[in-house]
Amino acid sequence: MTRQLDFADRVERVEPSATLAISNLASELEADGVDVVDLSVGEPDFPTPENVVEAGKAALDAGHTGYTPSNGIPELKRAIVEKLEGDGLGYTTDEIIVTPGGKQALYETFQALIDDGDEVVLLDPAWVSYEAMAKLAGGSLSRVDLSGSDFQLEPALGELAAAVSDDTELLVVNSPSNPSGAVFTDAALKRVRDIAVEHDVTVLSDEIYDAVTYGVEQTSLGALEGMGDRTVTINGFSKAYSMTGWRLGYVAAPEPLIEQAGKLHSHSVSCAANFVQHAGVEALRNTDEAVAEMRNAFEKRRDMLVDLFAEHGTDVPVPDGAFYMMLPVDDDDQAWCEGAIEEAHVATVPGSAFGTPGYARLSYAASEERLREGVDRLAEAGYL
Ligand code: PMP
Ligand code: GLU
Repeated sequence: MTRQLDFADRVERVEPSATLAISNLASELEADGVDVVDLSVGEPDFPTPENVVEAGKAALDAGHTGYTPSNGIPELKRAIVEKLEGDGLGYTTDEIIVTPGGKQALYETFQALIDDGDEVVLLDPAWVSYEAMAKLAGGSLSRVDLSGSDFQLEPALGELAAAVSDDTELLVVNSPSNPSGAVFTDAALKRVRDIAVEHDVTVLSDEIYDAVTYGVEQTSLGALEGMGDRTVTINGFSKAYSMTGWRLGYVAAPEPLIEQAGKLHSHSVSCAANFVQHAGVEALRNTDEAVAEMRNAFEKRRDMLVDLFAEHGTDVPVPDGAFYMMLPVDDDDQAWCEGAIEEAHVATVPGSAFGTPGYARLSYAASEERLREGVDRLAEAGYL
């Protein structure tokens, strides 16, 4: 018999990541010999650019295998500062923590800012881990639904203004968005700035999909006047450079927050992997072409999928960025997704995991051939 353990309330408040749970289920079915079109997890299907792989190998050969300074190696912090400068963001190397993945950067931010009962405002649909991280820190959630406006922020600004108050501690903005692919306009983000300034709120801007936009400009919130000292900018290498398994990301924020988050960082992960940080310098400096190729491939797939769904009579809100789209499905999106994976062998994530029931999120980080196959299977099994 297993001994009963008395778990901490904070872990009992959250569920495992829904995106990873479905991708694990898809892997289990595949292990049983089922051919699954896996459109669940958001993971680029391209290899990491060759020069980045070589830089990682060279760093190993050069003996970069020990701990690094906790907040990251100076070369990488400098390269990050230069990248952010290019986005109009004025951070210094003392305002950066290099983390094992963007997720850890987010986790440290939530832990450093949110106390029991502090209010966190999310824009729904919101990526699954924001809710979990807010809850782990003891925060309470207030959610603004963007699904009525094709996931655009502008029409919901009134609701956002009503949701944010002097009691709000943190507002989370993710543009381009996972899961909707929406890229919020400059005008909408300027209104977000005004709301944040009015109520003295800190804004977390998760810009991990900033390299993947289609014909629109992504605005960095921290670059807007008045936002420098109230924005925490999160980014990572997983999506732009197809480096999910390398685990590399960062948080850029005013120094007092870096000091607090840095304590968590030093007591938990110590530092990001040494040779991985060296590869990160190469990724930031020498991958323009590879990044453009991946972006172009994603755009072609987006266009193809939107057309294919339209042929089946389903209009999908056209995303301007990232590599996700929200397919309108039955009200019971959970049952729809379970049926789709069991009967059509197509894996997707229920919109309710992101706070918006009635949709399934599709990741089009898969080849055109597999995407076509996925749509065919859904249609044949009566899911479109
Ligand atoms: N933010 C968003 C919006 C994401 O979709 C992801 C996906 N994993 C992350 C952060 C974190 O990614 P990673 O930890 O691989 O850098
Ligand atoms: N962010 C990706 C997704 O949403 C990867 C999985 C995860 O970390 O949740 O699918």
